[in-house]
Amino acid sequence: MPRAPITESLLKEYPAEAKILQDILVNFAQIYKKVLPKSTEAPKEIKFAVAKDTNSKQYTLVGNEEAILFLVSICKTLLDIGDQALKSSEYKDHLEKIVQESTRQYITKFIKPINEEAFKRCPKCNYENKYNAVYCTKCAKKL
Ligand SMILES: [Zn+2]
Repeated sequence: MPRAPITESLLKEYPAEAKILQDILVNFAQIYKKVLPKSTEAPKEIKFAVAKDTNSKQYTLVGNEEAILFLVSICKTLLDIGDQALKSSEYKDHLEKIVQESTRQYITKFIKPINEEAFKRCPKCNYENKYNAVYCTKCAKKL
């Protein structure tokens, strides 16, 4: 089976994708050799199917050994990319900002209303009573 050619136009139009594809092919070759060292040289198909699990009754993706190793090589390539990205301080700073912002948004959206509901403010003396209080602890006004 001929190897998928990485043409000049692919390299020009999609250089990042072409590099990732190349990495996937390299990883596939290494993983395949390591996991199935006694495999024959005859071309093998990569087969995927969707099947219903007889126990869980859920649809699941199944595949032959080659298909599984293909998915593993994609996963390895993605993990390698993530690992490289995490080593870059610029990316780390960017990620920290995203985490801080999303945490802030989460707190603003979900935690603050809960805190606001966690007490009942007295309309007379402005005292913050427990959320389930019926009378104000400070001035005894009915809440
Ligand atoms: Zn009060």
